[in-house]
Amino acid sequence: MINIGCHLSVAKGFANMAREAISIDATTFQFFTRNPRGGKAKAIDEADITAFRSLAKEAGIEVILAHAPYTINPASPVDKTADFAFTALSEDLARMENTPGQLYNMHPGSAVGQSVDEAVERIAGMLNRVLRPEHSTTFLLETMAGKGTEVGRTFEELAAIIERIELSEKVGVCLDTCHVWDAGYDIVGNLDGVLEEFDRIIGLSRLKAVHLNDSKNPLGARKDRHAPIGEGCIGFKALSAVTCHPLLRKLPFYLETPHDTLDGYADEIARLKAASE
Ligand code: FE
Ligand code: FE
Ligand code: ZN
Repeated sequence: MINIGCHLSVAKGFANMAREAISIDATTFQFFTRNPRGGKAKAIDEADITAFRSLAKEAGIEVILAHAPYTINPASPVDKTADFAFTALSEDLARMENTPGQLYNMHPGSAVGQSVDEAVERIAGMLNRVLRPEHSTTFLLETMAGKGTEVGRTFEELAAIIERIELSEKVGVCLDTCHVWDAGYDIVGNLDGVLEEFDRIIGLSRLKAVHLNDSKNPLGARKDRHAPIGEGCIGFKALSAVTCHPLLRKLPFYLETPHDTLDGYADEIARLKAASE
């Protein structure tokens, strides 16, 4: 059985997300730690966390994935921007201890005017400031499409960041199928080859989660426009093959496909589960 879920809204709390996950037959979910456009995180509600824990246990939800807001740029050379990233990440990691041992995912950042090497140094520097030995969270860097000056389009860039992190045993990677496809990794024609490359450059032991998305654009487009599963250039067969791959099938999978209601996710989860049996 594959461990699959989707992105849910945190607005009504953790217990509500667990109920929504259960209603669509999901065994995991992703959520933004705060409004993705930035802003303050809601205060943690103890009763909500307690209710969440019992629902999660009952439903077999073991791992959940928090996503940092899009507005932070940990690569920024501008003090004010870097300070905002530092504050948001530090607060988020402290709050993550309410649900210990979970995953936290971040877009590495954008170079904006700097070389990739400079941006890599800044990102690693930021992580060396925010990661603490007492944190139980695994911190993930997401593979990026390479839109604009995004860092993390290549496995080499992610490896260069990880290499510079002191507490690197706490750091892993979240592979986004739409992003790697847009970045030029052919997961349709040569999934084994892409995984071999990942293993050689980053190490497959670092791979902790997969964002399962189709792409509106062809291989290497560097656009980052997600499509529903089976309605894009990657296609149902290739995405199902990702969930069934012997090196990946134990990982948690997260749909970030465009749907207005939970029904769209329920349908994708049912089809992907059926194909994985
Ligand atoms: Fe993301
Ligand atoms: Fe993603
Ligand atoms: Zn994306």
